[in-house]
Amino acid sequence: MNAKSLYQEVILDHNRKPRNYGTLDDASHQAVGHNPLCGDRLDITLNLNDEHIDKIAFHGESCAICKASASMMTAAVKGKTYAYAETMIKEFRDMATGKLNLDNPHHLGRLTVFSGIQDLPTRVKCAILPWHTLHAALNSVAGASTEAEHDPANASTV
Ligand code: ZN
Repeated sequence: MNAKSLYQEVILDHNRKPRNYGTLDDASHQAVGHNPLCGDRLDITLNLNDEHIDKIAFHGESCAICKASASMMTAAVKGKTYAYAETMIKEFRDMATGKLNLDNPHHLGRLTVFSGIQDLPTRVKCAILPWHTLHAALNSVAGASTEAEHDPANASTV
């Protein structure tokens, strides 16, 4: 299977069966993301427990690329630490904008199917939106968060 058909297969699979789709009633952190360029809207709720993302869910109206990216992202960061998730967020952003050298060690795993997105400037924001929103959620103060590195300049979702 070549890279393009693998990409299409993954997008289809995650739109048919989105992982972690819904909203957590007892979320400790949450954020809403909006990509006006495409009309994507999604909200992310998560539970941070002892620095680990115990539970995470996403919900919203978005295009297939955004939904697949959100679905894969939630599956990838669930059970991971806050710091690990932030590393993945940075790597995914860098990959989507062509700044990540995939020959070097990274934490993205199967998410590298999105590496071709860098050649589709209008879709980059669709793929990145869930990650921006996760970053905002992790830095939100909805719960008893003690995250010290809250940077308002990076917390905006679009
Ligand atoms: Zn979109």
